[in-house]
Formats: sequence, C-alpha cells, structure tokens
Amino acid sequence: MKTIAAVWLALCAATATAQVPGYGHFAETEHLRFAWNDGAISEEGLAAMKRNGENYYATINDMLGDAPDHKILILIEGPAQRPDGSWAYPRVDSWGRVHLYQFGPSYHDYMGAYAHELVHAMRIQRKPHKDWFFEEGLAEFIALRADEPLRGFPWYGFPVAIAAGQWLAGGEDIPLATLRNKHKATNQTCKAQSYTLRSAFFDYLGKTYGDDAVLNMAKQDKAGAVEDYEKFFGKDFDTLSAEWRKGLLASFAAIEDADAQAARYRNETPIQYMPVCDGSGVARR
Ligand SMILES: [Zn+2]
Repeated sequence: MKTIAAVWLALCAATATAQVPGYGHFAETEHLRFAWNDGAISEEGLAAMKRNGENYYATINDMLGDAPDHKILILIEGPAQRPDGSWAYPRVDSWGRVHLYQFGPSYHDYMGAYAHELVHAMRIQRKPHKDWFFEEGLAEFIALRADEPLRGFPWYGFPVAIAAGQWLAGGEDIPLATLRNKHKATNQTCKAQSYTLRSAFFDYLGKTYGDDAVLNMAKQDKAGAVEDYEKFFGKDFDTLSAEWRKGLLASFAAIEDADAQAARYRNETPIQYMPVCDGSGVARR
C-alpha cells in the first residue's frame, strides 16, 4: 500500500509540474516554476532566469515576508515585439502568473522587469485595496534593492539621480500628487516619467526615513493610503514630495557630467521610445 501511495504522490507531483496549458517546456526551482515554448530561451538563459529569480525571491521575501504558499509561475514568452510591430509588456495576471518578454537580442533582455513583477506576484494575496501609485513605487523600490544598478526599464543602468533627476532638471516632471491622483490616466500615457519619478520617490523615502518605514507602510491593509505618509514618515504627502524634489535636483546638480549622462539616457536608451507627457500629465508623444 505504501508503495502505491508513493507512486501516486510522485505522479501527482510530476503532473502538477507539467500542466501549464499552451506551454511545451517546464522547469522549477525551490520557489518558482517556469514554462516556455520552443526557442523562447536558451539553456544558459534559463539557468540565469532560475538563479536571478531565486535571488530576487530571497530579497523580496526578506523585505516583505508574506510570500504565497505556492510556487510562483514565470511564463517566458519570447520576443516583446509582436509580428504586427506592437509591443507586449511584462505583467502579472489575475492568477498571479508573471509574464516576461525579451526586449532585445540577449536573454538578459528578459530581466529588466523580473524583480519588479515578482514583487507584484508576491503581493497577490493581499487585501483588495490597491493604491497603484504605491504598489508600483514599492515594486520598483524593492527591485532597486534587489538589483542595483538595473539594466532594464526604466533605469537602463543609469543611477536614479540621472534617470529621474533629469526630468526635474529639464522642468518636465509631473507632480507626484498628479501621478498619485490620476494613476490610471498617467501611468502608461506618461510611462517615461511615471515609473522613474514614482520609484525615485520611494527610493528617497527609504534612504531618508529607513527602508523599514516604507516596508511597514506596505504591510497595512490599505497599503498606500494618503494619510499613512504622515504616520510612517512624520510628514504629509505634499511635504515629502517637495522635500524629495529638492533633494533629487541637488543630487542631479552634484553629478559632474550630469547633463551629458542625461542626454545619453534620453537619446541612447529605449526611454527615447517611451510615451512622454507635459508637466500636467497630458501626452506629448
Ligand atoms: Zn508594476
């Protein structure tokens, strides 16, 4: 009887690993599962995907706790650019599955949003309240701690002070209050600015008031509520925004070749193709 039970359990485990409809290949690590189709990733790329994923998972779990009981499924989807020329973007779907796309010729081009999306996947069990200004800022804040400097969107290997600071220095920043109050209208439409500014803000809060203050705010049932800024950082949202803006401008000005670096960031990285808005959050490109 014991033997039959053992065989049955082994079969169940094998089936659980193999069943991801639509995907022909599977692999898993301690906390993650991977599925992909022919040609989507090389053996070397998969090894990097497993290694990076477990490293990110460890950092995120250390910072957030509260990881799901199940292994997180990573779907390795192939090229980001579709045959019709449009682009697919990394995301977490409503089942908590992470979809990653390759934005360039190398498997490294899968990694840009990997840590960020894993943060979302690890918060999938949270209460229904979602303040997306906070959730997106938090995801990037943790990704920055997991893997700085980030080669992928939106940093492309540049320091935060350059990538985010250059919007301020050029008078092209959208107020954080606008990004917070009009998240849906500005997040994708003003993508070049929204991700850099928001995550630079949470990076600043962590460095100024301690990463734990940000993480404690993340543990609230209504994570990201506007009144919580005062509670966790001792100042209201508008005061913190003004402080952050002043500090980021000063950090940018303190970098000797800031203007040259900013020009490279703007003109030579994929940020040049991202949607940009004017200062009031209205689309410019
Ligand atoms: Zn996100």
